Amino acid sequence: MQNERSWTEINLSNFEQNLNELKKFISAGTDFMQIVKADAYGHGAFEISRKAILCGATFLGVANVQEGMLLRYQGIDTPILILSPSLESEIELIMENELIPTISSLEFAQTLDKKAMKEIGIHINIDTGMGRSGIHYKQSLTATSKIQKLPNLKIEGIFSHFSAAENDADYSKLQSERFKSILDGLDFKPKYTHIANSSGVITSKNDYSNLVRLGLLSYGVYTDPSLKNKISLKPVMTFKSRIGQIKTAEKGESIGYNRSYTAPGKMKYAILPVGYADGYDFMLSNKGKVLIKDKLCGVIGKISMDMIAVDVTELNVNVEDEVVLLGNEHDAIKAENLTSLYNGSSYEILCQVGRRAKRYHFENGKMIASSPLLRRDFVSSDYSDDKLNTVIETAIEQRLQSKEISNLIYSDILKRFFTERDRDIHYRRNFKHTIEFKDSTLSPFSRGNSKELDNSVLSPFLRGNKRGLKGYYLTNTTLTFTKQLQNDHFYVACANSEKLLEKYFLRKDVEYRWLLDNKLEANLFDVTSAKINDIELYHEMKLKDGCLEIRCHHPQLQELVGKEVEFSISTQTFYPKDSHQLSVYLIEMTQGVEISFVYGNVLKNVEAVPIFSSRSKFPQIKENKGSIMISSQPDEWVFPTSGVVFVY
Ligand SMILES: *Cc1c(COP(=O)(O)O)cnc(C)c1O
Repeated sequence: MQNERSWTEINLSNFEQNLNELKKFISAGTDFMQIVKADAYGHGAFEISRKAILCGATFLGVANVQEGMLLRYQGIDTPILILSPSLESEIELIMENELIPTISSLEFAQTLDKKAMKEIGIHINIDTGMGRSGIHYKQSLTATSKIQKLPNLKIEGIFSHFSAAENDADYSKLQSERFKSILDGLDFKPKYTHIANSSGVITSKNDYSNLVRLGLLSYGVYTDPSLKNKISLKPVMTFKSRIGQIKTAEKGESIGYNRSYTAPGKMKYAILPVGYADGYDFMLSNKGKVLIKDKLCGVIGKISMDMIAVDVTELNVNVEDEVVLLGNEHDAIKAENLTSLYNGSSYEILCQVGRRAKRYHFENGKMIASSPLLRRDFVSSDYSDDKLNTVIETAIEQRLQSKEISNLIYSDILKRFFTERDRDIHYRRNFKHTIEFKDSTLSPFSRGNSKELDNSVLSPFLRGNKRGLKGYYLTNTTLTFTKQLQNDHFYVACANSEKLLEKYFLRKDVEYRWLLDNKLEANLFDVTSAKINDIELYHEMKLKDGCLEIRCHHPQLQELVGKEVEFSISTQTFYPKDSHQLSVYLIEMTQGVEISFVYGNVLKNVEAVPIFSSRSKFPQIKENKGSIMISSQPDEWVFPTSGVVFVY
């Protein structure tokens, strides 16, 4: 944090305390939904959700399908309600990510029913006087009974929303009565009924509902001053910056755009490197207060995009001194008080601030997570697999600088992402690859008078080729790994130029590729054995445009499709002696890697140069007489394009 221009600190312990305070107002048998829309009001949806779930939240509430998806990618499997009306085009993603849509009109219900193709749980939103989304209460009984008849829709909840729970008790009562009379009119009992937002929990009695939706109050911001006597809350977010420059002005000199402030006398002021682009609202020009060394200082002049000026005439301050802009224990800079200076909204300022500042999450005084300055929440459909890999790789790489963070991302997000959610991403486990060199004193084309290689070590196919090769090592490879079987067959491919082999890297049905020396023809490569579990596969070779394709298949594989199976592939070929290096690359996400190079007495001074992108950049290297092996931890994920170059 020492190097940041501005940042937010999110105090998860305060958040937990606020939840505990709120729970005192919730009757037994009533559940709570944590509202985490807009990145949890700028507090970080993932961390807040995780904490809320630990504190007993049974639902999460988001604004749209993207926010819900992101939480799913991050491994959260709690039910998620999309509070706003969804679009027809979002239905597929809603289903795919197992999100709960809100029904705000009969038409949308009918469309959803048609497109859903299978049962989907929904909540119906009834407008009892909010005048925003939802089915108008006067039409709601008819609409609900029609929705109930739609075969694919399962009404799991019915809810409404208060318009002014924080300060208009009479209106809330009217809304409650309308809601209750609708519930009474139903000929079925939905599992969940809910109307109260966080203010409503404190201000109104809602005996007929069994779920509440907690937002702003849980973040420690009062929605109305009158609530202060009823509940004690602590701000969760603190927005901080530091002094960038200290200056003086003479009487009559103006400060900032349009000369809206003029020094009344000789004064000292500080420039802070935050502005309205950082969420410090423009309306705070000449009005805002900041805290420096526990003293309040007034904002002077207009807020610029990236800078503000504050009066520090009375203070002894230095450049880089910390400044608190929002939150904290000081009343004047709490969100509700700061925004009251310009008749603004504390909901809005929290979202604004959350947008640009780097964010640090604290629990019991200890930093447990952070997120970067420029957040862009990505969803996988925005990216091709390739691009996604690059994004994740880069993120991990950068974050490897910090063990805490890289581990967090690594284990929490990736593991779930790849192992539990997205079945379309191919990955392998227990990857073991051995490459063995033997001397081949076979002479070219078996002509001349050189000694012939003992034929018995050659595969029948290569023996049939009758091509011995001086200047090459006889090379046997074995590869085993486990992976979900996609089909009743797969291919092994071999070519003698990278260009020719390229297309096989794009194909998902190719499990092994071998680049042959460019002086050799592609048919100097053979699959000696291919197995899945213990089934020995049939294989057929086909030479196609200079590439050798070997199709491995067996009728029994049909029953194994979709299951995780053990692959085992052995090959035989030749490797040029004058190459002096041999590379092995991973092209899929792989958990647990072991690559061995066995050279017996045909080579000396072999070194392994690993290029690893995973939790650790440095795999274990084990040297024995005549062999060298590199390995990751058995449960460690290794990213594609990691690999090793053996140099000899
Ligand atoms: C945002 C929202 C809430 C949370 O309201 P707070 O006032 O922040 O407690 C509850 N319900 C719905 C439908 C919302 O959109």
